[in-house]
Formats: sequence, C-alpha cells, structure tokens
Amino acid sequence: MPNPAILTVDDDPAVSRAVSRDLRRRYGDRYRVVRADSGDNALEALREIKLRGEQVAVLLADYRMPHMNGIQFLESAMDLFPLARRVLLTAYADTDAAIDAINLVDVDHYLLKPWNPPEEKLYPVVDSMLDAWRASPEPPASEVRVVGHRWSAPSFAVRDFLARNLVPYRWLLADEPEGGRLLAAAGLTADDVPLVLTSDGKTLAAPNEADLAVHVGLTTTPSLEFYDLVVVGAGPAGLGAAVYGASEGLRTVLVEQRATGGQAGQSSRIENYLGFPDGVSGAQLTDRARRQALRFGAELLTTREAIGLESGGTSRLLRFGDGTSIAAHAVVLATGVSYRMLDAPGLDELTGRGVFYGSASTEAPSCFEQDVYIVGGANSAGQAAVHFARYASRVHMLIRGADLRHSMSSYLIQQIEAIGNITVWPHSEVAEAHGDEHLERLTVRDPRSGETRDVDTSWLFIFIGAEPRTGWLDDAVLRDRLGFVLTGPDLLCEGKRPPGWTLPRDPYHLESSMPGVFAAGDVRAASVKRVASAVGEGAMAVSLIHRYLEAQ
Ligand SMILES: Cc1cc2nc3c(=O)[nH]c(=O)nc-3n(C[C@H](O)[C@H](O)[C@H](O)COP(=O)(O)OP(=O)(O)OC[C@H]3O[C@@H](n4cnc5c(N)ncnc54)[C@H](O)[C@@H]3O)c2cc1C
Repeated sequence: MPNPAILTVDDDPAVSRAVSRDLRRRYGDRYRVVRADSGDNALEALREIKLRGEQVAVLLADYRMPHMNGIQFLESAMDLFPLARRVLLTAYADTDAAIDAINLVDVDHYLLKPWNPPEEKLYPVVDSMLDAWRASPEPPASEVRVVGHRWSAPSFAVRDFLARNLVPYRWLLADEPEGGRLLAAAGLTADDVPLVLTSDGKTLAAPNEADLAVHVGLTTTPSLEFYDLVVVGAGPAGLGAAVYGASEGLRTVLVEQRATGGQAGQSSRIENYLGFPDGVSGAQLTDRARRQALRFGAELLTTREAIGLESGGTSRLLRFGDGTSIAAHAVVLATGVSYRMLDAPGLDELTGRGVFYGSASTEAPSCFEQDVYIVGGANSAGQAAVHFARYASRVHMLIRGADLRHSMSSYLIQQIEAIGNITVWPHSEVAEAHGDEHLERLTVRDPRSGETRDVDTSWLFIFIGAEPRTGWLDDAVLRDRLGFVLTGPDLLCEGKRPPGWTLPRDPYHLESSMPGVFAAGDVRAASVKRVASAVGEGAMAVSLIHRYLEAQ
C-alpha cells in the first residue's frame, strides 16, 4: 500500500506549487503529497485514491476557487474520506466565510495565506492534523472492481448493493478497453456481466447478493445459535435498537435483507436530525451508526431476509429463506417500508435502465448536464431534486397536485424555489415510458384534462410513497388494515387485550401481540415516519425489552 495522501487543491499554480513543495519537504518521506488545480480535479483524485483502497490523511483546500469553492470541495470530499482532517486556506478578507465553514463542513482548521515561514505557520497546523488523523485513521480498503454495461439493470443492482453497503468499488464499462481485458482474462464475454473481481482476485459472474456479500467481506452468518435480542431490519430504527441493545450488554444480532441504512441510507441530505445543524447524508449517518453498533459488539448480518417468526415458550424464532433460523429472548421488528411502484406502460421494462425507485444516488454523476425527471411531491422527492440539481442541467418535478405545500416541508420548498434549475410541473403524471435499450422518452399527462406531451429524457426517479414490509409475518403478530404492526395501547380493543395474549399485563408501549416481540420505526402502525423517531423507538424498544426480560 502506498503512503497515505495529503491532498492540496488551489487554482493558483504558483500557490499550489509552493504549498506542495513545503509539504513535500517536511512530510514527503511518510506521506504522498497530491496536488490538484480545481475542486473537480481534486475530487476526481480522491475518488481514484478511494477506489484503490488507499488512505487520505489531510485535505488542504483554497477557499476562493472558480466553479467549486474550498468549502464545497471539502463538503464533497467528506463523503469520500470522512476521517481525513480538513484545512481551509483563506485570505484575511475571507475569515468570516472560513468561520461559517467550520460549522458547515466541520473544517478542522483555517489557515491564513501566506503561511510563511512554514515552520511557524504551516507545519504546526499540519502536524496537529496528522496527529489527530493517526489517532483514528481510515483503514486502507482493498479494491473491488465491477465490469458491466452502462444501461443494465443487473449491473446497476450490483453497484447499488455495493454502494449502499459502503463497499468501495471501481466501475468499468464492458465495452471499454480495461473492462474488455478483465472479461477476457476471466474467460468471460460481455454477455456474462456484471463481473465482480474481489480484492483477493476471485471473479464472480453475475453474482447474487448473498454471494457478493460473502466475497466482499460482509457478514452473513450468525456466530451464535441463541441471542438476547434479534433486530430485523437495519434502517435507523434497527440500528438504534442494535446500538442500545449491544451497549447495554444484550447479545444482539441485527439482520438485514439488503443494505444497512434502510430508506435513510438513500437520503442525499437529512436536515432535520438532531445534532446535525447543516444536515448529514444518509450514507454518512449509516456509516457512523453501523460502526457504533459494531463497536459495542452487535453482530450485523447482511443479505438475510427474515421470512417467518414463531414463538416457542420464552424464545422467539426467526426463520430465513435458506431454511436456517436464529432464536432469541426478544425481537425488534424494524423492517420499515418499501417503495410503492408506479403503474404506467413501459416502466417495469425500463426499471434499472433509466427508471429508478428512490434516489439511486450512485447514478447522480451520470446525469451530468442532462434533464432529470422526478415523480413525487413529498420530502424524499424534494431532497432528490436538490441533490440531482447539482449534476443535471435541469430537474423536472412532476406532481399531481397544484403545488408542493401540502406534501413537503417548507424548508425544502424554499430550497427548491431558490434553485434555478429545478422546475415543478403541477397537475402532471407519467402516462408512459418509452425506450429500447434504456429510457429515452416519457409521455406526461395532465390528469384533469387527459392532455399529454412527450419529453426526451434518460432519467426518471420515482418517489410515490411506501407500504410496510410485513407480508412475511402472516398472522404471527396483529397488523392494521394497511399491514403496519399494531403495538401497545393500539392492541387493546375496548380495554380488552388481544386474542391469545396470556400475560397478566397489557402489552408494553412498542410491544406487538406476541409478547417479547417489539416494533420500531416506520413499520409500526401510527408511527411518525422520520429518522429521529425511528432511532428513538429503536432505543425505547430496548428499555422495554429489559423490563420484559426482568419479568421472565
Ligand atoms: C429518500 C428519502 C429521504 C428521506 N429523508 C428524510 C429526512 O430528511 N428526514 C427524516 O426524518 N426522514 C426522512 N426520510 C424518512 C426516513 O428515512 C424513514 O422514516 C426511516 O428510514 C425509517 O426507518 P426504519 O428503520 O423504520 O425503516 P427503513 O429505513 O425502511 O429500514 C428498514 C430496513 O429493514 C430491511 N428489511 C425489510 N424487510 C426485511 C426482512 N424481511 N428481513 C430483513 N430485513 C428487512 C430493509 O431492507 C431496510 O433496510 C426519508 C426517506 C427517504 C426514502
């Protein structure tokens, strides 16, 4: 592995040369000094470093740069290297902006230019940044490579799976020279993609998610046969329950069907979660929560879909599709909700090939300078519009109603109004999607008049609400008419406990009709569909589980 990098970005060639010369002189034997002349180029360099699985220790960015200023650069860089220490280089006149930056992107230090003599002004700052980084460095990651077709649903599924599980990978097109060389070396053809090459040199042709998970280092099998607590679903509620359960000494296992983070993991920026005044991306929040759960000793199993729940005396049994099962004293159901599908001709065939459900943030850079369409008027659609507006030439939001006021938070409406390249189209719905290899055109209809118009686009992102993921529970626990899990007081009918309930007490607040089985987050009937409430319910379920276990 090469030495960790110190990256410096400045659009002024003389300053750029001087800073990298000074850095090399003092740190060149232990660190690689990487120099870039724009935010875009610096991000590009960071992505490459990330894909190669190498480390970045410190980022030094000039504040005043055209197109992307230093703060914007550091904000994007954080997504790639959250643990790298961040220094903003400013002129005296920009001190206020620098102070704002400390709040916005958690800048560790701002350094006034010029920094001469470096021994006095530059090195002490960089020394302390390096000390801090060495105390919690990002471990070097080995590289996974994916070879696939640009417009292929299975290739997208593999990339999305890796991205949502925070597995760094390199994406290579099958029809480009390097992709072709790798396919040939593996003895495969372009028909066999997606091809995944793992860091230890294994080749997986069109792997399913379970195989992929195993080979990229995700855990899929439990280490114990019996736990105190099994949590089903690793969205905010499940991660919350796992952090609190494990930190309070419960042997805890978290079981996730696809990827940690749940819906929140797909959010480009969560702005209303306590403690993040300037927002946090779903990926960052997920990464922190996952590391926290693991640090407390929770086990996290990926690609394990629960398909049944049974009660046997005081233990609860969770069954999986492959015939295996896990038993525990208590269960938290945190399976959240899944996207509702939009029903219009052509959409099913083009899903994953230009039509996406949810934000599919892996695709955002591919939308560069193109027209993007978003269906939906709720917060998730609004966040996606704001996110895609950074890349697309124009983002079009199709909403059935007259405006966004009844469906979206006012802070997001204000953001959308302030962004010049977002257009909201009221009274509009998708009537049909057209395209052969990928989406090429949409027919948009006014539901009042039935009038239609065609628009050219390769990108459609759909956010039209969700339904609970509870079909697998059958009659194991009581659910409301929409399928959400009933808990606590909602289970009492005219003061009577639910049928089959034998305990001499009412169900606890988040407890379902099966004693010892609790529900938290979006899957629970009448829950508030928010990250904070999901996390809070996950934590609260654990305290109720303690009460349940004490009474056993
Ligand atoms: C794009 C987007 C943006 C959002 N932005 C915000 C925001 O800014 N602020 C805010 O407060 N809220 C926001 N929300 C809502 C918020 O994300 C949800 O309220 C929250 O994620 C609910 O958490 P949860 O853990 O209950 O469920 P989910 O996040 O839905 O997680 C459930 C998890 O369970 C897994 N699972 C399901 N079935 C099974 C099974 N049978 N076996 C194993 N695992 C299973 C799923 O794969 C999933 O990972 C947003 C939602 C979306 C989609």
